[in-house]
Amino acid sequence: MNRPVPKIGFVSLGCPKALVDSERILTRLRAEGYATAPSYDGADVVVVNTCGFLDSAKQESLEAIGEAMAENGRVIVTGCFGVEEARIRERFPDVLAVTGPQQYEAVVGHVHAAAPQPHDPFLDLVPPAGIRLTPRHYAYLKISEGCNNTCAFCIIPSLRGRLASRPAADVMREAERLAAAGVKELLVISQDTSAYGVDLRYAESDWRGQPLKARFFELVEALGSLGVWVRLHYVYPYPHVDAVLPLMAEGRVLPYLDIPFQHASPRVLKAMRRPAAQEKTLERLRRWREICPDLALRSTFIVGFPGETEEDFAFLLDWLKEARLARVGCFKYEDVAGATANDLPGQVPAEVKEERYARLMQTQQAVSRAVLAERVGRTIEVIVDEVDAEGAFARSAWDAPEIDGNVFLNGDTEVAPGDIVTVRIEHADEYDLWGVRG
Ligand code: SF4
Repeated sequence: MNRPVPKIGFVSLGCPKALVDSERILTRLRAEGYATAPSYDGADVVVVNTCGFLDSAKQESLEAIGEAMAENGRVIVTGCFGVEEARIRERFPDVLAVTGPQQYEAVVGHVHAAAPQPHDPFLDLVPPAGIRLTPRHYAYLKISEGCNNTCAFCIIPSLRGRLASRPAADVMREAERLAAAGVKELLVISQDTSAYGVDLRYAESDWRGQPLKARFFELVEALGSLGVWVRLHYVYPYPHVDAVLPLMAEGRVLPYLDIPFQHASPRVLKAMRRPAAQEKTLERLRRWREICPDLALRSTFIVGFPGETEEDFAFLLDWLKEARLARVGCFKYEDVAGATANDLPGQVPAEVKEERYARLMQTQQAVSRAVLAERVGRTIEVIVDEVDAEGAFARSAWDAPEIDGNVFLNGDTEVAPGDIVTVRIEHADEYDLWGVRG
């Protein structure tokens, strides 16, 4: 008699790095014959992959665990917040197990204990690209774990450890599998993409019968040869990044860089202990744009970091006007348990943070509106994400999924998700573009 297939519920919180962890766990479980349950009540056990980056994220993680406990009761907790097992057990003493980030084996072991595995892992039970939580046409490609930097507001290095890069051939084989499975856009992620391979001393590995160095430029160049869109996230403005700009200008990788600048004032950057804090960044951006005029930059900033003065903040606003970034996200500084910034003098009052946040967003909106307005009249390629009765939602080379804007194709229902089509841009606001085909 056939045993019923055990079903796993999965709740995935946090950043794209956590999403990739979820994908790995689900891929392994699917390979072992488990099914995924669409709701709590049909699941034999629920895995909650948590985020522990900010206190608000921890709160959200606790709420998600509480919901899974109330709705199902058989819960395994994993992810960044999992390092605080005592805090989780204090609220939910009956969770089946708690594991930290990247502990795939441990999570899978706990799932086996909660609901016996139907198979040994026969990899031919799953599609070659694994189980992915993103739509079929784009995928995150994680090239390393951990981080060697010591930013004062961040506890990721203590959660995830020092930089551990994947061998270049390993990354490339995954990228090839994804492309062969129909992925049209690869989103390269890590904690510090520009540091890729430093820990491996740029060791070579064999890809397509040739040695390939585990180094930022070589990896980006190899990814650019696969014939799919390649988008780079979490890059810092180091001099060696200059070398990929010609690849962007030649159309081999997307003219897009996601650089979490976090601030512009040298004093604040130093206090934040940010990588590349000493670089003359505006000068570097100017040179990058000379090589690749189409370059789109997206970034995030923190306002109200301890010790940030009105002068520092004014410096940041002026910098934003000069830098002409296409997209900007902004956070109001908050203490994170365990971060060294908590002990810094000069905490900024909440109302000042609020006011600076509003001023930054207002300043940037004007910049983004001007940057996007320059795109009206251009004919560009876009990738379609979704189609409904009223038209299609697409993105340009300048827009990453989830975090940036859209290109709306009003009334165009003749395209399908994953299609790359040529459109003429007719209208823009500070976030989105509108275009028509043909
Ligand atoms: S670069 Fe800084 S903010 Fe990013 S993960 Fe490393 S320590 Fe954290």
